[in-house]
Amino acid sequence: MSKSDQATPAPRVIPLDSAARPARHDPTTTLHRGQVAIIGAGPGDPELLTLRAWKLLRQAEVLVYDRLVAEPILQLAPPHCENIFVGKRCGQHAMSQQQINALLVDYARANKSVVRLKGGDPFIFGRGTEEVQHLLQHGIEYQVVPGITAASGCTSAVGIPLTHRDSTQLCTFVTGHLKDGQLQLPWHCLAANNQTVVFYMGLGNADMISKNLQAHGRAAQTPVALIEQGTTDKQRLIISSLSCMTADIAQHALQPPTLIVVGEVVDFHSLLASAPAALQQAVPK
Ligand code: SAH
Repeated sequence: MSKSDQATPAPRVIPLDSAARPARHDPTTTLHRGQVAIIGAGPGDPELLTLRAWKLLRQAEVLVYDRLVAEPILQLAPPHCENIFVGKRCGQHAMSQQQINALLVDYARANKSVVRLKGGDPFIFGRGTEEVQHLLQHGIEYQVVPGITAASGCTSAVGIPLTHRDSTQLCTFVTGHLKDGQLQLPWHCLAANNQTVVFYMGLGNADMISKNLQAHGRAAQTPVALIEQGTTDKQRLIISSLSCMTADIAQHALQPPTLIVVGEVVDFHSLLASAPAALQQAVPK
Protein backbone atom coordinates (compact mmCIF):
# COMPACT_ATOMS: atom_id res chain seq x y z
CA MET A 1 0.00 0.00 0.00
CA SER A 2 1.47 3.38 -0.97
CA LYS A 3 1.46 6.29 1.43
CA SER A 4 -1.28 8.05 -0.51
CA ASP A 5 -3.57 4.97 -0.16
CA GLN A 6 -3.43 5.13 3.60
CA ALA A 7 -6.46 6.69 5.25
CA THR A 8 -5.86 10.20 6.58
CA PRO A 9 -6.62 10.15 10.29
CA ALA A 10 -9.83 11.99 11.15
CA PRO A 11 -9.22 15.30 12.92
CA ARG A 12 -9.65 15.08 16.66
CA VAL A 13 -10.74 17.86 18.95
CA ILE A 14 -8.89 17.41 22.22
CA PRO A 15 -10.64 18.96 25.22
CA LEU A 16 -8.39 21.31 27.15
CA ASP A 17 -8.62 19.20 30.31
CA SER A 18 -7.10 16.13 28.74
CA ALA A 19 -4.66 17.70 26.29
CA ALA A 20 -3.10 20.80 27.72
CA ARG A 21 -3.45 19.58 31.28
CA PRO A 22 -2.27 16.01 31.46
CA ALA A 23 -2.10 13.91 34.61
CA ARG A 24 -4.62 15.33 37.05
CA HIS A 25 -3.35 18.84 36.80
CA ASP A 26 -4.42 21.40 39.35
CA PRO A 27 -5.35 24.64 37.58
CA THR A 28 -4.33 26.79 40.54
CA THR A 29 -0.68 27.62 40.94
CA THR A 30 -0.07 25.18 43.74
CA LEU A 31 2.69 22.66 44.06
CA HIS A 32 1.30 19.72 45.99
CA ARG A 33 3.23 17.28 48.08
CA GLY A 34 4.08 14.28 45.94
CA GLN A 35 3.94 16.35 42.75
CA VAL A 36 6.74 17.34 40.37
CA ALA A 37 6.73 20.67 38.51
CA ILE A 38 8.96 20.58 35.45
CA ILE A 39 9.78 24.23 35.00
CA GLY A 40 11.55 26.16 32.27
CA ALA A 41 13.83 28.71 33.93
CA GLY A 42 14.36 30.84 30.82
CA PRO A 43 17.75 31.90 29.47
CA GLY A 44 19.32 33.18 32.69
CA ASP A 45 17.98 36.54 33.83
CA PRO A 46 15.62 35.83 36.78
CA GLU A 47 13.33 38.60 35.54
CA LEU A 48 12.59 36.39 32.53
CA LEU A 49 11.01 33.64 34.63
CA THR A 50 7.28 33.24 34.18
CA LEU A 51 5.06 34.21 37.06
CA ARG A 52 3.95 30.61 37.39
CA ALA A 53 7.55 29.41 37.57
CA TRP A 54 8.26 31.90 40.32
CA LYS A 55 5.17 30.98 42.34
CA LEU A 56 5.90 27.26 42.16
CA LEU A 57 9.58 27.71 42.93
CA ARG A 58 8.66 29.45 46.17
CA GLN A 59 6.77 26.33 47.26
CA ALA A 60 9.56 23.84 46.52
CA GLU A 61 10.83 21.48 49.19
CA VAL A 62 13.25 19.86 46.75
CA LEU A 63 14.83 21.61 43.78
CA VAL A 64 16.54 19.52 41.11
CA TYR A 65 18.46 21.75 38.72
CA ASP A 66 20.87 21.82 35.76
CA ARG A 67 24.07 23.74 35.10
CA LEU A 68 22.19 26.16 32.84
CA VAL A 69 20.07 27.48 35.69
CA ALA A 70 21.60 30.74 36.87
CA GLU A 71 22.51 31.21 40.54
CA PRO A 72 20.12 34.18 41.16
CA ILE A 73 17.22 31.94 40.12
CA LEU A 74 18.20 29.25 42.64
CA GLN A 75 18.09 31.89 45.33
CA LEU A 76 14.36 32.33 44.74
CA ALA A 77 13.70 28.92 46.33
CA PRO A 78 12.80 28.96 50.05
CA PRO A 79 15.73 28.70 52.50
CA HIS A 80 14.63 25.26 53.75
CA CYS A 81 14.53 23.84 50.20
CA GLU A 82 16.96 21.02 49.41
CA ASN A 83 18.89 21.96 46.22
CA ILE A 84 20.23 19.08 44.13
CA PHE A 85 22.59 19.75 41.22
CA VAL A 86 22.28 17.14 38.47
CA GLY A 87 23.95 18.98 35.58
CA LYS A 88 27.00 18.51 33.50
CA ARG A 89 30.50 19.64 34.38
CA CYS A 90 33.41 19.41 31.93
CA GLY A 91 31.56 16.96 29.71
CA GLN A 92 30.75 14.67 32.66
CA HIS A 93 27.12 14.27 33.67
CA ALA A 94 26.82 14.69 37.43
CA MET A 95 23.97 12.19 37.03
CA SER A 96 22.72 10.11 34.15
CA GLN A 97 19.25 10.84 32.76
CA GLN A 98 18.04 7.56 34.29
CA GLN A 99 19.33 8.60 37.69
CA ILE A 100 17.62 11.97 37.37
CA ASN A 101 14.34 10.29 36.41
CA ALA A 102 14.60 7.94 39.39
CA LEU A 103 15.45 10.81 41.74
CA LEU A 104 12.29 12.72 40.76
CA VAL A 105 10.13 9.66 41.40
CA ASP A 106 11.84 8.93 44.74
CA TYR A 107 11.30 12.44 46.09
CA ALA A 108 7.70 12.56 44.87
CA ARG A 109 7.04 9.20 46.56
CA ALA A 110 8.61 10.59 49.73
CA ASN A 111 5.75 13.11 49.54
CA LYS A 112 7.94 16.13 48.80
CA SER A 113 6.93 19.06 46.60
CA VAL A 114 9.49 18.78 43.85
CA VAL A 115 10.62 21.38 41.32
CA ARG A 116 12.66 20.20 38.37
CA LEU A 117 14.22 23.37 37.00
CA LYS A 118 15.64 23.31 33.49
CA GLY A 119 17.30 26.04 31.43
CA GLY A 120 15.16 27.76 28.78
CA ASP A 121 12.11 25.71 27.90
CA PRO A 122 11.92 22.12 29.18
CA PHE A 123 10.82 20.75 25.82
CA ILE A 124 13.42 22.44 23.59
CA PHE A 125 16.57 20.33 23.47
CA GLY A 126 15.94 19.78 27.14
CA ARG A 127 14.96 16.13 27.69
CA GLY A 128 11.80 17.29 29.43
CA THR A 129 9.82 14.72 27.47
CA GLU A 130 11.85 11.84 28.88
CA GLU A 131 11.26 13.05 32.42
CA VAL A 132 7.52 13.49 31.88
CA GLN A 133 7.25 10.01 30.34
CA HIS A 134 9.03 8.52 33.33
CA LEU A 135 6.75 10.31 35.79
CA LEU A 136 3.69 9.13 33.86
CA GLN A 137 4.93 5.54 33.89
CA HIS A 138 5.24 5.71 37.66
CA GLY A 139 1.91 7.44 38.26
CA ILE A 140 3.46 10.63 39.64
CA GLU A 141 1.47 13.84 39.32
CA TYR A 142 3.26 16.54 37.38
CA GLN A 143 2.85 19.85 35.69
CA VAL A 144 4.97 21.50 33.01
CA VAL A 145 5.72 25.22 32.99
CA PRO A 146 7.04 26.61 29.70
CA GLY A 147 10.07 28.86 29.75
CA ILE A 148 11.58 31.38 27.34
CA THR A 149 13.94 29.36 25.20
CA ALA A 150 17.51 30.62 24.71
CA ALA A 151 17.02 31.40 21.00
CA SER A 152 14.20 33.76 21.73
CA GLY A 153 15.42 35.26 25.02
CA CYS A 154 19.07 35.80 24.11
CA THR A 155 18.38 37.37 20.72
CA SER A 156 15.61 39.71 21.84
CA ALA A 157 17.79 40.85 24.73
CA VAL A 158 20.51 42.05 22.32
CA GLY A 159 18.17 43.58 19.76
CA ILE A 160 18.14 40.77 17.20
CA PRO A 161 14.68 39.82 15.93
CA LEU A 162 14.42 36.16 14.87
CA THR A 163 12.12 37.01 11.96
CA HIS A 164 11.41 40.03 9.82
CA ARG A 165 8.41 40.55 7.56
CA ASP A 166 10.49 41.64 4.55
CA SER A 167 13.58 39.47 4.71
CA THR A 168 13.19 36.51 7.03
CA GLN A 169 10.05 34.40 6.90
CA LEU A 170 11.52 31.29 8.49
CA CYS A 171 13.35 30.51 11.69
CA THR A 172 14.83 27.13 12.56
CA PHE A 173 16.19 25.88 15.88
CA VAL A 174 18.89 23.24 15.44
CA THR A 175 20.98 21.16 17.78
CA GLY A 176 24.67 21.30 16.91
CA HIS A 177 25.32 18.32 19.15
CA LEU A 178 26.64 15.20 17.47
CA LYS A 179 24.49 12.09 17.38
CA ASP A 180 26.53 8.88 16.99
CA GLY A 181 29.56 11.03 16.12
CA GLN A 182 27.75 12.70 13.20
CA LEU A 183 26.09 16.04 12.60
CA GLN A 184 23.35 14.76 10.31
CA LEU A 185 21.34 17.79 9.33
CA PRO A 186 19.39 18.82 6.23
CA TRP A 187 22.07 21.30 5.19
CA HIS A 188 20.40 22.25 1.92
CA CYS A 189 17.32 23.43 3.89
CA LEU A 190 19.40 25.22 6.53
CA ALA A 191 21.46 27.01 3.89
CA ALA A 192 18.40 28.52 2.17
CA ASN A 193 18.16 32.30 2.30
CA ASN A 194 15.35 34.20 4.00
CA GLN A 195 15.77 32.30 7.22
CA THR A 196 17.38 32.54 10.62
CA VAL A 197 19.09 29.42 11.86
CA VAL A 198 19.85 29.18 15.57
CA PHE A 199 22.27 26.50 16.68
CA TYR A 200 22.05 25.29 20.27
CA MET A 201 25.09 23.36 21.60
CA GLY A 202 26.94 24.24 18.42
CA LEU A 203 30.22 25.61 19.77
CA GLY A 204 32.22 22.38 19.49
CA ASN A 205 31.10 21.88 15.89
CA ALA A 206 31.17 25.50 14.76
CA ASP A 207 33.68 24.83 12.02
CA MET A 208 31.56 22.01 10.59
CA ILE A 209 28.47 24.24 10.75
CA SER A 210 30.23 27.12 9.00
CA LYS A 211 31.67 24.93 6.25
CA ASN A 212 28.47 22.99 5.59
CA LEU A 213 26.26 26.07 5.36
CA GLN A 214 28.69 27.69 2.91
CA ALA A 215 29.10 24.49 0.89
CA HIS A 216 25.31 24.35 0.49
CA GLY A 217 25.06 27.93 -0.72
CA ARG A 218 24.75 30.32 2.21
CA ALA A 219 26.95 33.34 1.53
CA ALA A 220 30.28 33.60 3.36
CA GLN A 221 29.42 37.14 4.53
CA THR A 222 26.07 36.10 6.09
CA PRO A 223 26.04 37.77 9.50
CA VAL A 224 26.39 35.58 12.59
CA ALA A 225 25.83 36.47 16.24
CA LEU A 226 27.62 34.48 18.91
CA ILE A 227 25.90 34.97 22.26
CA GLU A 228 27.61 33.57 25.34
CA GLN A 229 25.68 33.38 28.64
CA GLY A 230 22.93 35.51 27.14
CA THR A 231 20.79 37.68 29.47
CA THR A 232 23.14 37.14 32.43
CA ASP A 233 25.60 39.68 33.78
CA LYS A 234 28.37 37.66 32.12
CA GLN A 235 26.83 37.96 28.64
CA ARG A 236 29.18 38.41 25.68
CA LEU A 237 27.99 39.19 22.17
CA ILE A 238 30.30 38.79 19.17
CA ILE A 239 29.04 39.89 15.77
CA SER A 240 30.77 37.79 13.13
CA SER A 241 30.06 36.17 9.76
CA LEU A 242 29.74 32.66 8.43
CA SER A 243 33.30 32.60 7.13
CA CYS A 244 34.87 34.20 10.23
CA MET A 245 32.87 32.59 13.05
CA THR A 246 35.28 29.73 13.78
CA ALA A 247 38.22 32.11 14.13
CA ASP A 248 36.17 34.52 16.25
CA ILE A 249 35.07 31.74 18.60
CA ALA A 250 38.72 30.79 19.10
CA GLN A 251 39.94 34.36 19.42
CA HIS A 252 37.40 35.21 22.11
CA ALA A 253 37.65 31.74 23.72
CA LEU A 254 33.88 31.43 23.84
CA GLN A 255 32.55 28.75 26.18
CA PRO A 256 29.16 27.06 26.55
CA PRO A 257 26.43 28.07 26.89
CA THR A 258 26.73 29.90 23.60
CA LEU A 259 24.18 30.30 20.82
CA ILE A 260 25.12 30.63 17.16
CA VAL A 261 22.59 32.76 15.29
CA VAL A 262 22.94 32.81 11.51
CA GLY A 263 21.01 35.19 9.27
CA GLU A 264 20.47 38.71 7.99
CA VAL A 265 18.43 39.64 11.09
CA VAL A 266 21.71 39.84 13.01
CA ASP A 267 22.32 43.18 11.26
CA PHE A 268 19.41 44.69 13.20
CA HIS A 269 21.51 44.44 16.34
CA SER A 270 23.26 47.77 15.83
CA LEU A 271 19.94 49.50 15.16
CA LEU A 272 17.71 47.97 17.83
CA ALA A 273 20.20 47.45 20.64
CA SER A 274 21.06 51.12 20.70
CA ALA A 275 17.44 52.29 20.82
CA PRO A 276 16.97 52.40 24.62
CA ALA A 277 20.16 54.45 25.13
CA ALA A 278 19.22 56.81 22.31
CA LEU A 279 15.71 57.24 23.70
CA GLN A 280 17.04 57.88 27.18
CA GLN A 281 19.24 60.63 25.82
CA ALA A 282 16.28 62.20 24.07
CA VAL A 283 14.23 62.43 27.27
CA PRO A 284 14.66 65.95 28.76
CA LYS A 285 15.91 65.82 32.35
N1 SAH B 1 16.20 23.93 26.96
C1 SAH B 1 17.15 24.97 26.68
C2 SAH B 1 18.25 24.52 25.77
C3 SAH B 1 19.13 23.42 26.33
S1 SAH B 1 20.43 22.99 25.23
C4 SAH B 1 16.41 26.17 26.09
O1 SAH B 1 15.23 26.06 25.74
O2 SAH B 1 17.03 27.23 25.98
C5 SAH B 1 21.78 23.94 25.86
C6 SAH B 1 22.21 25.00 24.88
O3 SAH B 1 21.30 26.09 24.88
C7 SAH B 1 23.55 25.63 25.17
O4 SAH B 1 24.62 24.84 24.71
C8 SAH B 1 23.45 26.94 24.40
O5 SAH B 1 23.67 26.72 23.03
C9 SAH B 1 21.98 27.29 24.59
N2 SAH B 1 21.78 28.23 25.71
C10 SAH B 1 21.02 28.05 26.79
N3 SAH B 1 21.04 29.13 27.59
C11 SAH B 1 21.85 30.02 26.98
C12 SAH B 1 22.30 31.35 27.30
N4 SAH B 1 21.89 31.98 28.41
N5 SAH B 1 23.13 31.97 26.44
C13 SAH B 1 23.53 31.37 25.32
N6 SAH B 1 23.16 30.12 24.96
C14 SAH B 1 22.32 29.46 25.77
